[in-house]
Amino acid sequence: MNARILVTGGAGFIGSAYVRHLLAPEASGGTAVTVLDRLTYAGSLSRIDAVRDHADLTFVQGDVCDASLVNALAAQHDQIVHFAAESHVDRSIADGGAFTRTNVLGTQVLLDAALRHDVRTFVHVSTDEVYGSLSHGAAREGDPLRPTSPYAASKAASDLIALAHHHTHGLDVRVTRCSNNFGPRQHPEKLIPRFLACLLSGDDVPLYGDGRHVRDWLHVDDHVRAVELVRRSGRPGEIYNIGGGTSLPNLELTHRLLELCGAGPDRIAHVPNRKGHDRRYAVDHTKITAELGYRPRADFATALADTVEWYKRHADWWGPLFAST
Ligand code: NAD
Repeated sequence: MNARILVTGGAGFIGSAYVRHLLAPEASGGTAVTVLDRLTYAGSLSRIDAVRDHADLTFVQGDVCDASLVNALAAQHDQIVHFAAESHVDRSIADGGAFTRTNVLGTQVLLDAALRHDVRTFVHVSTDEVYGSLSHGAAREGDPLRPTSPYAASKAASDLIALAHHHTHGLDVRVTRCSNNFGPRQHPEKLIPRFLACLLSGDDVPLYGDGRHVRDWLHVDDHVRAVELVRRSGRPGEIYNIGGGTSLPNLELTHRLLELCGAGPDRIAHVPNRKGHDRRYAVDHTKITAELGYRPRADFATALADTVEWYKRHADWWGPLFAST
């Protein structure tokens, strides 16, 4: 075995794509993977169906805040890749407590266990939202953090606490900060699947404010390839931005989704803006390109059309989740 990797949040949208990537038939093999996931409303074992019977996969249902469980697991692993989080901004506005608990305290529990059990590498998956809203340009890794939502603040706290464990204790921590992910199997609370679920169910799409909020879009497969580059070849104590290279105002994205679903602009319902809605995020990913050779492979138009097709074919997957949002 080359590595024993503990993947937290491996039943979530991105963590599951990472687990499928690690255990894909074309992967080099020799990697034992344990998924630790609490299976909150956001987690689903169906996302890792394709690898559930893989001999090198173990699934543990549990909480990253459970110190005795996390210590027992850390003792059996060389590396931790930490995706588990409360991840939806709107929920953090309604009730921030779960975000501080899981994202901040849960990360602390994992870092303590990593130190205690000499875990070799700790990859912490953070977000571009820690930089806050930018009026122009793109955030570099050394830029100050100005998170605004309770979600982004909890991610910034955990991101800095992780880096502090490198600085103070010499733990090999590597932090990634990625932009907005999209692709199949994303929970229909997030913008693209939510709008698709609305359109495919005959509802209007609820667009916040004037729709001029700008996001960079990153296909989930590009993201997990980048995380894997960081795990294998990144440097201890370093931060790596991961962008997708397609920056769009939400209104333009909405028009593309409408077109792909054969719907007209009359299906847009303008709703009051999200509280504290950040205007624009953008990350500069030249560092990970120069150091680790990362380049997003997905062509945005094609990847978006493929994502729409997946949601058209999998109403059985997203339907019950959409009904419960
Ligand atoms: P997700 O909400 O789809 O999945 C989160 C997973 O974590 C779920 O499987 C859930 O069951 C699990 N989880 C939640 N609380 C837990 C706990 N206390 N203990 C154990 N497991 C727990 O999230 P995602 O979109 O896959 O995001 C993964 C990571 O990437 C997060 O850290 C998020 O902050 C970050 N990120 C996401 C995006 C995006 O566009 N989705 C962008 C930037 C950064």
